Parts: sequence; structure tokens; C-alpha cells
Amino acid sequence: MVAENIQNIRENIAKTCFRLGRDPQSVELIAVSKTFGSHHINEALASGIHDFGENYVQELLEKKAGLEGKNVRWHFIGHLQSNKIKYLIDWIYLIQSVDSESVAAEIQKRAQSADKTMNVLVEVNTSEEATKFGVKPNAALGLIKKIALYPNINLKGLMTIGPFTDTKDESRDAFKLLRTIFEEANRSGFLKGPMTILSMGMTHDYEIAIEEGSTMIRIGTAIFGSRTQQ
Ligand SMILES: *Cc1c(COP(=O)(O)O)cnc(C)c1O
Repeated sequence: MVAENIQNIRENIAKTCFRLGRDPQSVELIAVSKTFGSHHINEALASGIHDFGENYVQELLEKKAGLEGKNVRWHFIGHLQSNKIKYLIDWIYLIQSVDSESVAAEIQKRAQSADKTMNVLVEVNTSEEATKFGVKPNAALGLIKKIALYPNINLKGLMTIGPFTDTKDESRDAFKLLRTIFEEANRSGFLKGPMTILSMGMTHDYEIAIEEGSTMIRIGTAIFGSRTQQ
């Protein structure tokens, strides 16, 4: 089932990109494996997926241990507490959910001690839903500017979770807003180098996100099925 689901999503990405005149390779597919175990992850690996997203540090540490030696790049996409960063810093591929100065400062400190540069995205709460994490859109540039000054952080782009709605216009507005902030930051001259990743689009809205310029979609349900918890 997982293989078939991945095949369907790849076809949808290709169709959407074809319609837009975009290269399908310009959209990276991240499998969001939260609540699913190594059996599911191995199925996705067999279909050629190597990027996996997780929301909880403890769950991620357990899964990582069970998949040691496999060719997996782990993305952290959940709300990150400063005191958990030390568990991730040595091996996580991309932290997608940086939304405060304090989290960024802790990443800088830990990355410096580990003598490495950490790849991050800034998460923006584009729909301003109170239940969501992410920096507010009007504070995003300020945070991006501060993060750009940290020598051990490589700011690769922005991430957002679209609104929990079936109204396509609302999703589109949120993605347009993220792209506007992205372009503004890239034009600003205060980044070390241009950001390249726009991480937006989930099961219910990834085609709209691709239309609005997404370069990375994070898909859980459409790959692994619906989650019973969380
Ligand atoms: C759970 C989650 C996803 C995947 O959501 P689906 O709707 O199952 O595709 C993507 N991004 C984040 C940040 C998530 O928490």
C-alpha cells in the first residue's frame, strides 16, 4: 500500500509540475512518519524515499535507533523545545521548525560545540491560527535577520503548515504569504546566501502548495494512512 501511495503522489507531483512548466525534481517529497514504525518506514525506503519527518524528539530517537545503518535523512518538523536540541544536533539533517530567538540561540550554541553548521528552516504561522506554532508573519523578517548572524546556522528556507481547511483560497493565501516573506528575505541583502527551500504542502493541500512555489512537501496520511493518535 505504501509503495502504491508513493507512486500516486509522485504522479500527482509530475502532473502538477507539468501543468506549471516546472521540473518535478524541483519538489522534494518528505515522508512524515510520526506514529508509524520501522515496518512502514522500510516500505517507503524500498520505494526510494530517504527523507523522513518526525514531530517528537523521543519518538524520533527510538525510530532512529531501530533503523541504524539505513540510508535515512531525518527532518525535525515538530515544536522544538530548547532543552531537546542537544539530542538532535549531531545527526539531524534539517530542523524545519525554528520559530524563536531562544531556540535559534541554543542551536547556535550546540552546533558550535559540535563544530558543525546546522541546516534550519524558520517556521512561519501564516494562517495565524492560535493553536499553531511558528513565528508571526510580521515578525518573520526580524527573526530571519537575527538567525542570519549566527555563524553555525545555515538558514536554508522557510516552512509553514497551511490552514486546517478545505477552502482552497485560504490555503493558497497562506502559501503566497510564505513565498512573499521568502522573496523579501532573499532580496534583503542580510542573508549569508539565498534561501532555497520553501517547505509547504501536506496531504490535503500539496498541489496548491506546488502551484505557489513549494520546493518541499511533507506528506504523512497520503503515504502511510490515517493516524490513530496525535
Ligand atoms: C503531521 C505533519 C505533516 C503531515 O501531515 P499529513 O496531513 O498527514 O500529510 C506535515 N507537516 C507537519 C509539520 C506535520 O506535523
